[in-house]
Formats: sequence, C-alpha cells, structure tokens
Amino acid sequence: MAFAMAVAFVICQVRLDYIEALTYDFRLAYKPISPTSGHVETIFIDKSSMNELQGEPDANDHARFLEQLAKAQPRAVVYAFNPEEIDGTAEELKNFAMTSEILPAFYYAANLLPKPGHENMLKLSPPLENIPVYPAPKTADLNIFAKDGVTRRFIFSFDGQPVLHPLLARSYNGLQFEEDYRGVFDFYDTKQAYIDFRPTGTYKPTSFYDVMNEKVDLSQYSDKVIFVGKDSLETSKHYIKTPFSRALAAMTNAEMHANILDTLILNRSPKLSSAVQNYVLTALISILTVFVVLTLRPTHGLLILGATVFGFALICHLLFITLGVWIEMAHPLLAIFICYYFFIPYRLIIENRRSWEYYQRNKLLTQVEELKSNFLRMMSHDLKTPLARIQGMLEIILRKKENLSNEQRRALRTIEDSTFELSEFIGSILNLGRIESKEIKLNLKSKDINSLMNQVVKKCDYLAERKGIKIITELEPMFAVRADEDLIKQVFTNLVENAIKYSPNNTKILVSTEEQNGKIVVQVADQGRGIAQQDLPNVFTKFYRTKDVVASDVGGSGLGLYLAKYFVELHEGKIDVDSDLGKGSTFTVRLPLDH
Ligand code: ADP
Repeated sequence: MAFAMAVAFVICQVRLDYIEALTYDFRLAYKPISPTSGHVETIFIDKSSMNELQGEPDANDHARFLEQLAKAQPRAVVYAFNPEEIDGTAEELKNFAMTSEILPAFYYAANLLPKPGHENMLKLSPPLENIPVYPAPKTADLNIFAKDGVTRRFIFSFDGQPVLHPLLARSYNGLQFEEDYRGVFDFYDTKQAYIDFRPTGTYKPTSFYDVMNEKVDLSQYSDKVIFVGKDSLETSKHYIKTPFSRALAAMTNAEMHANILDTLILNRSPKLSSAVQNYVLTALISILTVFVVLTLRPTHGLLILGATVFGFALICHLLFITLGVWIEMAHPLLAIFICYYFFIPYRLIIENRRSWEYYQRNKLLTQVEELKSNFLRMMSHDLKTPLARIQGMLEIILRKKENLSNEQRRALRTIEDSTFELSEFIGSILNLGRIESKEIKLNLKSKDINSLMNQVVKKCDYLAERKGIKIITELEPMFAVRADEDLIKQVFTNLVENAIKYSPNNTKILVSTEEQNGKIVVQVADQGRGIAQQDLPNVFTKFYRTKDVVASDVGGSGLGLYLAKYFVELHEGKIDVDSDLGKGSTFTVRLPLDH
C-alpha cells in the first residue's frame, strides 16, 4: 500500500498534459453536441462573398453591411478581424466608422492582451479611432499544457479586468462575478476557463454578401450578438485548431468567439478535478493494481485490471457528458501500468521460489515414499518364509489333536489365528508394493461370479462359524464375466472377512449377486458396528482405519479396502459403501458385464 501511494505521489508530480489533452479531446468529440444559447450568430466574409465582390469588401461594402444589420437591431456586432484591414479612402473609412455608430453596439475583438498602462495599444488609428476595441485574445496550447497548438481555453479576465466575452455574456445571464462562473481557474495574471466546444459548423454561417444585399431574413439577428469573421482560407491567423481537428483552419476565429460566448452565457465550462482529487484517485487505483497483481491469478488479474481501465474511462466519460466534470485520466492510467509492470516480475520471483520449494519437498517425499515401500516389500518378503514354516509345523501338530490337552489346543488356535492375520497382512503389503511399482497385470478369463462367491463364502465359513455368524447367499443366475480370478477373489474375501471381523457374535451376513442395467452387482451386507458418516469417504484410503476400530483389539492393516478399490477399478468397476453406525454396513461392487 505504501509503495502504491508513493508511486501515485511520484506520478502525480509528472506533467502528462499531452496524454491528458488527448483523453479530454476524446471526451469532447464523443459526447452529444452542447446546446447553443440561441443568442449568438456568425457572418463570414467567405469565398462566395469575395467572388461576388471581386475581392475583399471595401469600406463602402462594410458600411452597407452595417446599415442592413442595423435594421435588425442586434444587441452587438463584433468584428473578429482588425477593421484597419479594410480598404478605402479616409472619407470612406470615416463613413464606415460613423455607420457603425448607428448600431446599438459595435466592437472589434482584438487578439491582444495589453498590460495595465498600455491600453492605448487597443486604440485604432484615425479615422477608425472611435471604434471600441476590447481584448479577446486567442489562446493555444503552444508552449504550455499539451503543446499541440490546439485552442482549448479562453481568457476570462486579465489583471482583474474582464475581456470582451464576460462583458457580453453578462447582458444575457446577469452573472457579474467570476465566482459565479464554473470552471474558472488562475493562470499567472489571468483567470481562464475551458471552452465548451461545439464542432465546426454548429453555428450556421451566413455570407457577408448575402447580408449586405438583404438576401437573408435580417430579423434573425434581432437582439443577437453577431460575430463577423473571415473565412477565405488566405491566412491561418483567422483560424484556430480545435480539440475536434488539428487542421490549420479547423475553425474560424468568429466561430471560436461564438463558442466562448455561449460557454459563458450557458455557464457550461468544463470543470477540471483538483490536484488532491487526482492524487487520491491515482493512489486508490495504484493500491487496487498492486493488490490484484499480488493476490489474484494472472488471467483473473488481467481481466480485472482491463475491466478497471474500461470502467474508469467509462465513468470519466459519463461524468464529463452529464456534469461537465473533467476527471484527469492520464495519471491513474499510468499508475496502473507502472504498478503492473513493477509487480509482475516481483510476483514471478516469489512464485518461482515457491515452486522451487515445492519441487524440493516433492523430491524428498518421493524418495521417502520409495524407501518406505522398498523397506516394506523387503521385510514382508523375508517374513513370508518363516511364517510358512510356522504354519506347516502347526498343521502337523494339529493333525494329532487327540494327544493335546484343551489348554494346549486353545494356545495352538491362537497361534493359528495370529499367523493367519500375519500372513494376510504380509499379503496386503506385498500387493501394495506391486501396485505402487505398477507390477500388477490383469489375467482376464471368463469367470462365473456366483461360483467365485461360493468359494469365497466357503473359505470364510470357518471364521464365521467361530463367531456364530451365519452367511446367507442370494445368488441370481447370470452370465460369466471376464475377470482376474485371484484379484476378484481377494476383493470379495476382504469384504466378507471385514463383515465377520466387524460384526458381533451371532449375527447374519448377506452375500448377494444380481444383474442390473448391464452390470453385475455384488453386495456384502452385515449387522455389525457400522461406519460413521464422516469416515465413509476415507475407508478406501491407504492405511485408514476408523478410530473406534483402532481403539478396539480387532487387528488389521487398513489396506484391505484400498486394495479392493484398486482391483475393482482395474476391472473398470466401482465399489461403494453405505452404512448406519451401530446397525451395519453394506459394501456394493459393480462390475461391467461385457468386460
Ligand atoms: P482393516 O485391515 O482395518 O480391516 P480395511 O481397509 O479392510 O482395513 O478397512 C478399513 C477400515 O474400514 C477398517 O479399519 C474399519 O474401520 C472399516 N471397515 C471396513 N469394513 C467394515 C465393516 N464391514 N464394518 C465396519 N467397519 C468396517
């Protein structure tokens, strides 16, 4: 967070006027055209006027033009070019100057901003000296701000003295003070504001010649401010570049004045967000970026950042359109890029280190696992031979039972049980070893499951009888399946032995087979201790034994069901368990028939 805030702080110190101006121009270009006040008109000395008059209009033409306009009683007529450019004899010019006095107001909007004490710069030379001249300078971002020569701002007042536009606007909206206008900001000795631009041509231009010859309805100029300008494409000084177009003659000075005046009459100057607001926004966006880069998955992060950039741009655009608020976009956007590109390598380093650690740990675990299974296999192998010898000896002794006392017989039975348990355990461990080294190969043969089940039950009967448990079989006649006899027998022997092991004396076990939807379903159901719900998902895991079983003295390795599941799945079958604690368990094996 501290880093993000520091980045935001540093970025906000950098001037990004050019980028910011581009985003501003984009917002201006893609917004509904601002309304006009209806109080402003433009008239141009255009190519057609010059063709008709065979050159620039002279002083007599101008006098005639003003006479026509005077009939409409406009509120003010403003020349956007220097009347001194008008051709004519001193007499004719004097006549023109006098004609201008019949208008309610006639001004020359000079592209000048004289320092206090130098107001005489605004005086025209005789015989035009009585024409009022007001400062109405053009501004362009030439050496400041975006430095692209585009006009975006206008001067509201200089050294406390208002320029022409606020004076004209005041007569319509009555707003006296600069505080009444939105978006006015200080710039050196001036107060300035941004122009609420409309695209070129929004003010329907009329040709000078048409007005002069009353070819247009003059009543449209009644009580209006009329900017008269030149549009003959002869010199770029009569034009400006606008946010809509960087062409040299993108808009005439007269239309620019019309835009400025309407911005003021309607009080719609775009309002730039403050430096503090800009910093807060940049900091928030930087924090979000750092958070996203460090915590989210790269694709998610990229999506969220993309959405943030898009959402931010959209909000800025909507605020500009609806409220005329200009939120700076350049700094927050740059902050996103810098934070993103700074933190991505950082995150890569962290992740690399983490995956190296995982790799090392994994390597160690694999080695340990390998050592463990090697050890188990070696040990069980070496145990098998002495165990077989014990079992052989036991058989010989038990053949002559009648020579033994009851106590000796009981002792020998215990030895028999224990060796049986031990050989089962060794068998399981050896199988586990075979599974883990992927040694197991299926030896598939066509087998009748029912006869296999009968063999399993027969083998387990002896164990069941000793606990007074009755094994009931319900075997439905069915087709043979292709199975590995040894493995499938091991699966069902384990299920039946478990049912006996985990059931109290004198209960029943039901072993059933049936065919269901092209599958053979074998179930082993007991009335034993059952398995708690939370243990059910684990009983097929390697070495897993339920807590109550571990606490009791029932022996086992926790491998039987793991092996059973593995063997059943080798046959493309499935094994499930359903159990009620204290009431019993049912293990179900499904094997495909066509296997
Ligand atoms: P074990 O050698 O412990 O019997 P198994 O893998 O065969 O290992 O069984 C895993 C565990 O599942 C057993 O320890 C026992 O807790 C539980 N379990 C298996 N079969 C039954 C059953 N029929 N009734 C109750 N619990 C059983």
